[in-house]
Amino acid sequence: MPAKVKCPTCGSEAHWEGNPHRPFCSERCQLIDLGAWTMERYRIPAEDSDSDVEDNDEDDPNLN
Ligand SMILES: [Zn+2]
Repeated sequence: MPAKVKCPTCGSEAHWEGNPHRPFCSERCQLIDLGAWTMERYRIPAEDSDSDVEDNDEDDPNLN
């Protein structure tokens, strides 16, 4: 294992040994990277997420 790795976020050298945020150089870069892929996930529209609570149901007796 190399003593130093390249931080995927900022590209600077990051220590590997004793680095809790590896392969990132810092917590900041780790959070940036995490946020990046989290945003990618959430950007995808969830079509089937609890959509069974729609209030304009055809079987609604109160619907005229
Ligand atoms: Zn970095």
